[in-house]
Amino acid sequence: MGDDEMLALSRVIESGTLTSTKGEFVKTLESQFAEWIGLPHAYACASGTGALHTALAAIDPEPGDEVVTTAITDMGALTPILYQSAIPVFADVDPLTYNVTADTIEAALSPRTKAIMVTHLFGNPCRMGPIMELARSRNIPVIEDCAQAFGAEIDGQKIGTFGDIGCFSLQQGKHITTGEGGLCVTADADLGRRMYLFINKAWGYGDPKPDHYFLALNYRMNELSGAVAVAQLAKLDDFVERRVRMAQQMTDGLQGLPGVSPPAVDEGFKHTYWKYCLHIDGSKLEGGLDALAGRLRERGVFCAPRYIQKPAFECQVIRDQRTFGNSRFPFTLARPEAVDYRRELFPGTYEALATVLVLPLNERYTAEHVQQVIEVIRTAVGQIAKK
Ligand SMILES: *Cc1c(COP(=O)(O)O)cnc(C)c1O
Repeated sequence: MGDDEMLALSRVIESGTLTSTKGEFVKTLESQFAEWIGLPHAYACASGTGALHTALAAIDPEPGDEVVTTAITDMGALTPILYQSAIPVFADVDPLTYNVTADTIEAALSPRTKAIMVTHLFGNPCRMGPIMELARSRNIPVIEDCAQAFGAEIDGQKIGTFGDIGCFSLQQGKHITTGEGGLCVTADADLGRRMYLFINKAWGYGDPKPDHYFLALNYRMNELSGAVAVAQLAKLDDFVERRVRMAQQMTDGLQGLPGVSPPAVDEGFKHTYWKYCLHIDGSKLEGGLDALAGRLRERGVFCAPRYIQKPAFECQVIRDQRTFGNSRFPFTLARPEAVDYRRELFPGTYEALATVLVLPLNERYTAEHVQQVIEVIRTAVGQIAKK
């Protein structure tokens, strides 16, 4: 953040208009983001959670329909499924990329699957080719959760453009930010229209006979956030390139360490490193992952072993089905197999969480900062590597 964001904010305040229904800044953000990603329709909203909720509402599942997704994600990707009366069904993940795959998704499909929601975790793209082939063969729409993956690509094509809808977050921790905010994109005019309406209480602004057409919320972004987002968007490509460069330096500097593998990125894939994660084989280190994390923290390198600690289905809201009053709705409509969370059904998910060490990264790091992190890791591993 800097002068550009300050100037943008003062322009909004001078304009006297803070709502996007009357102002121009959010509209500018939407058209610039659509251009950046290369799709005709982009809508801004209040959060990444709101963007995912908007995407699901546009697809409009019937109560009890299923949405296949991942248990290693932000809860904001899962609660919208429940708010739309649908059941999150968890596909296992590849323990090396932490992402769902066509195979794990296929194993979770049922005749009630109404959508697939994939998360490009940490900025590393899911293998969208086989995933889209599977989804198209079954006629199931795909939502891409790109909250952590601005600018990621497969063979030069931006993620968010493979599925039917792409969703992004502008929360404080993401590649670009307005504190809180979200964006959803689509090539489909009908989905786009429904997304626009859902964000706007389904009020048909500009229609000859406007009405509230269906159940919807006010998920609008305000003009202050919109203006900051426009300024941030101008910096996005630079932020992405810096992150990619730092990650390359990390990967180069961490070669050959026992038990430590750099991020697994497929040929032709562009990972944009919301976080830089190491895959740790704890059996090669005295004290395993925790001993390594402890040593890094002692030397001032903040890190998060096990990322979210437990799969999302172990969180109270899902495990105990705490939803609307005491109703447990919509879980009351679920097939028993759809809510079967036994550990042996999710070997990749548990392995991923047990082996991932999340390191922070931000675009202000210098090459010296990165070098310092590399040296701390090399020293720590040297001290605890088993002979
Ligand atoms: C941040 C995040 C979200 C939610 O976005 P908010 O803006 O915090 O609501 C959803 N999915 C993933 C993968 C995220 O990282």
